[in-house]
Amino acid sequence: MPPFVEVNNLTKHFPVQKGFLEAMFSGKRDFVRAVDGISFSIKKGETFGLVGESGSGKTTTGRILVRLIEPTSGEIEFDGQPVTRMNAEEAQTFRRRAQIVFQDPAAALNPRMTVGNAIKHALDIHGIGSDIERREEVLRMLKRVGLTPPDNFHNKYPHQLSGGQRQRVVIGRAMILKPQFVVADEPVAMVDVSIRAQILDLMVSLKQEFGLTYVFITHDLATANYFCDRIAIMYLGKIAEIGLRGEVFKSPKHPYTVALMSAIPVPDPKHKPERLIPRGAIPSPITPPSGCRFHPRCPKAFNRCPNEDPGMTRITSTHEVACHLFDETKAGQ
Ligand code: SF4
Repeated sequence: MPPFVEVNNLTKHFPVQKGFLEAMFSGKRDFVRAVDGISFSIKKGETFGLVGESGSGKTTTGRILVRLIEPTSGEIEFDGQPVTRMNAEEAQTFRRRAQIVFQDPAAALNPRMTVGNAIKHALDIHGIGSDIERREEVLRMLKRVGLTPPDNFHNKYPHQLSGGQRQRVVIGRAMILKPQFVVADEPVAMVDVSIRAQILDLMVSLKQEFGLTYVFITHDLATANYFCDRIAIMYLGKIAEIGLRGEVFKSPKHPYTVALMSAIPVPDPKHKPERLIPRGAIPSPITPPSGCRFHPRCPKAFNRCPNEDPGMTRITSTHEVACHLFDETKAGQ
């Protein structure tokens, strides 16, 4: 079966804003290389995790996938259609099929708009249903996302809700158009720990009901392990490792992934964790390190690493890693 979403050599470079004098005298423009030539594909019905620290490029990638921002270069195909070259009508259809759930529900909702109107807004924009039908649809969605009784929530404003309830509204707003593809950008990072599992369970049940394909963006490996079928580990705008959840968690290959895995807490008092913390801080994405971007922090770096960007090496049919150690023709040179 062809992939549902296919991403090829995607890049996004943001120009750095400089002061007038600095711009005049430096004579060159700097760019934040947020995403720098990544490729992956997602199967229909899959939950694909983009995992990485702040500044890894995962959120930018997610926003490009739903056309909130345009890429600098590269191609995205959605259900066989090139996303970056759609006409107005195709783009309108795409917006119904692809939605995003933002990390911060307080910032994502208009404080002057009632919950009911916030969810209804997308139906208004796309001209779906009569006023009565839209209201009924909104009440059904409020109930579906666990805001019951829905009549009680319909006329409330975001500030009258808890963080968890607000995130349910944001999820309901994304689901009201019955999308097929949802990018969830750290959907539980800003809600209370006690209700994170409830929000994730809601997302799982919506996936089953609507046959959704998810991109799940997170910095939290434990959440990714709970929620994702396949995972891409991102570092400084590149993919370091990609594979099935079990492959990446049970047999991580990239030294960066190994370090991340060593930091996951294990609920066993006898377990003596060996925490492998990469040395130094994450380098600037404006001037990323040459060769392998992880080389200044990598405990296994060797002479080839600063000089050559490691391409992806296939470990199994589903597991790939960007590290010279696994390229048998080059390792140790
Ligand atoms: Fe470390 Fe070299 Fe592998 Fe990069 S390519 S992760 S620096 S061993």
